[in-house]
Amino acid sequence: MAIDNKLDAIAHQIRYEIIKMLVPLESHHIGCSLGIVEILTALYFEVMNIDPKNPEDINRDYFILSKGHAGASLYATLALRGFFDKKLLSQYDTNGGLLPEHASRVVSGVELSTGSLGHGLPVGLGLALSAKRDKRPNKVFVLMSDGELDEGSNWEAFLFASQHKLNNVIAIIDKNGLQGFGKTEEVISVEPIKEKLESFGWAVQEADGHDLQSLKKAMTEAQNSQSDKPNIIIAKTIKGRGIPFFEGKFESHYYSISEEKKAELLSSFNKKS
Ligand SMILES: [Mg+2]
Repeated sequence: MAIDNKLDAIAHQIRYEIIKMLVPLESHHIGCSLGIVEILTALYFEVMNIDPKNPEDINRDYFILSKGHAGASLYATLALRGFFDKKLLSQYDTNGGLLPEHASRVVSGVELSTGSLGHGLPVGLGLALSAKRDKRPNKVFVLMSDGELDEGSNWEAFLFASQHKLNNVIAIIDKNGLQGFGKTEEVISVEPIKEKLESFGWAVQEADGHDLQSLKKAMTEAQNSQSDKPNIIIAKTIKGRGIPFFEGKFESHYYSISEEKKAELLSSFNKKS
């Protein structure tokens, strides 16, 4: 269990860095960023074949954050994994700073600039097809939101991936049941999502998106699958995870924090570190 304690400590540190980055700003995508911390921790510190010293290695695994508005979470993860100096995080979304608000390819380790929803999976499939044709070992991981399933481009991609047997794709849905304007079930219902994806020819697993053991198990199973189906993991998450007054609240999607709450947040995380 020692390794999971280590991963838990890393996830806590990533969350703390996100809070330090976002709390001082006027308002931000804080709930969306906090909810995917364990998914990124499992991928970058356990599962993916990556080398921060050689980020363009032709045989590396790819990761695409399709929900690019949670870029702060990816930047904090990349910094702690050694892709760039952690000091740069203080430049997040500042005038002239090196870290743009949404995930950007200008940052070391970011594979695709994202923010326009529904593009991550289609681009990921292109990378996966190219790797297969060149007989390269790359796996392609794409993290998408459940609200993002409203985009028709994803459903075209679901069809394409199974037809071309892209079993080197591992998509992950951040299923928090919320999106910018309310509950996903009230905006456009996608349930029963597991059955829908299976009917599109994907191998579907479900995982607890805040349990590193559960995530690692699902990701490893997808990596080692002998099936020719593309893989997808439905990760059940809580938007705003880690801040009690944010958890499960759609308002945390893009939130302005009061001065009193800012101090409370930073000190509560300091105590736990
Ligand atoms: Mg959502």
